Amino acid sequence: MNQQTLILIKPDGLKKSLTGNILTRLSETKLEIVAAKMVRVSQELAQEHYKHLKNKDFFPELIKYIRGELHQRRKVMALVYWGESAIQKVRDLAGATNPEEAEATSIRGSYGRITTGGIYENVLHCSSNEQEAEREIKLWFEPEEIIVDLYPTKITQLKSYKKRVWR
Ligand code: UDP
Ligand code: MG
Repeated sequence: MNQQTLILIKPDGLKKSLTGNILTRLSETKLEIVAAKMVRVSQELAQEHYKHLKNKDFFPELIKYIRGELHQRRKVMALVYWGESAIQKVRDLAGATNPEEAEATSIRGSYGRITTGGIYENVLHCSSNEQEAEREIKLWFEPEEIIVDLYPTKITQLKSYKKRVWR
């Protein structure tokens, strides 16, 4: 079954210059990239993305991590991959959440670490199931940023609308 999944190359992945390596590893899946962009992650976006973890002790540190405050890299690379069993294929390549438990040859096993503060710096995020993928893709991307139709859309008339354009 064809699926879509959200991938984020986290600030540690960017700081360690792992973008190329991670994309090369992901190309093993033969999935298609249908959206990609760099994102400066706001407090609101970070908290919404990780809302399932908001009661955890490590939540404030996790928000700092995904916003790049631990790596002086205030950005992430966000991508949507599409194709047969996309979610499981990417999770398998990524490896376990805890980089010390992740298989050594997986992306997280190869490049992840646990900080002294106890955060798992595991270089990438990937959606864990279809419901999460839909929630996350809709959170990170507008419909027109994705080159295929993944979810139903509607046309809405915005009353007052300001937009930055090239000068
Ligand atoms: N995380 C952590 N400690 C934990 C659990 C999670 O530092 O005990 C961080 C880690 O960076 C992880 C993220 O929080 O990738 C989101 O956690 P989740 O359980 O959703 O794991 P994932 O889906 O990323 O494997
Ligand atoms: Mg998760």
